[in-house]
Amino acid sequence: MITVISEEEARTKIVETVRPLQPRRLGILQALDCFAAEDYFAQLPLPNFDNSAMDGYAVIASDCGRGAKLRVVGEQPAGADRQLCVSSGEAVRIFTGAPIPSGADAVVMQEDVARSGGEIVVNVDVDPGEFVRRRGCDLTEGQRILRAGERIRAATIGLLASQGFANVSVGGEVRAAIVSGGDELANPGEKLQPGQIYESNSVLLQALLERCGAIVASSQHCSDDAGALQNEFRTAIKNEILIVSGGVSVGEHDLVQAALRSLGAKIDIWRVAIKPGKPFLFGRFGDCFVFGLPGNPVSAFITFLQFVRPAILKMMGATDLDLPKVPATLSVDLANDSDRVHYLRGKFANGEFAPVGRQESHALFGLSQSNALVRVALGESLKAGDVVDIQLWD
Ligand code: AMP
Ligand code: MG
Repeated sequence: MITVISEEEARTKIVETVRPLQPRRLGILQALDCFAAEDYFAQLPLPNFDNSAMDGYAVIASDCGRGAKLRVVGEQPAGADRQLCVSSGEAVRIFTGAPIPSGADAVVMQEDVARSGGEIVVNVDVDPGEFVRRRGCDLTEGQRILRAGERIRAATIGLLASQGFANVSVGGEVRAAIVSGGDELANPGEKLQPGQIYESNSVLLQALLERCGAIVASSQHCSDDAGALQNEFRTAIKNEILIVSGGVSVGEHDLVQAALRSLGAKIDIWRVAIKPGKPFLFGRFGDCFVFGLPGNPVSAFITFLQFVRPAILKMMGATDLDLPKVPATLSVDLANDSDRVHYLRGKFANGEFAPVGRQESHALFGLSQSNALVRVALGESLKAGDVVDIQLWD
């Protein structure tokens, strides 16, 4: 007999059970939103050589009082270093990104000089170092540029490219199978028969899976039939994770747990003190982790974010497994006198959190209007105006 456990225990147990998958090497662009599998260090300083921040003239700053005349002795575009040299009384025509000629210690913008023939007249005072981007001023060779477990973002990819990395080692890929069970479910696009409802969890879960970087390997609908469920599970457990929607509760038609057990799955968790989402189930079948989510759409959504998402992120090699948290001022009083932690759906805007819609596990419309969750612990009583950390999921 498995007893109801707290949300914290369930999450800890899940996160401790799953392991990071074998890393793989990807082209840096393919690695977007993956997690670095190792630390990366700068192979080059940035910039890699002193270069001009402007189109203008490379000069010796101390030569350049207002009205100073300088002789233009060469031209240095961005590209091959022409190894030019600036001596007193001289300037080199230079362009953005071009190497600074030896002897020069500043660049005057072309807007600040008047050119006639082979000469310029400087119209401003010039400080040493002006418009020169110094070697290593942004990044020193050997400095860490990416930490193992960090998410690879667009800017990370740019930085890796600027360091000459074409590939990057990232955490393994999580392939997920979804099985949604229920005799009452019809597919969107079909004609509803009396008593039927449209099946919405499988697409909701696919969208959530894609958002956290997992691959949806298959999504199958199944009737409330033990044999049919077993058949679906047999193929589905070849993936890293199996997510089952519906049929994990206590009714006669909730056959998921029995079907899993009959195939030899080990059930570690069944029922968690969380609202919505109490019937949540977690188990494993060999290397495949199984998450049974209640069929009510809001319960499926909440248990996915609190239990499945951190597991997937850990398997993908991430270090930060939490949803982003921000402080928010509550717009209303909130109390929890139940025996489960309560996740309320609400709207976060301009620093304020306001619950939206019906806070019931079937109320999909309210969920669709929300962008954040507030967690109200057992016995907690919060007042309008209190500042609490909320979870952002959008
Ligand atoms: P269950 O967890 O199977 O007891 O289902 C709980 C509630 O969720 C019932 O009202 C079901 O009709 C509904 N439900 C179950 N599966 C889905 C699904 N895939 N899409 C939408 N609603 C569902
Ligand atoms: Mg059902």
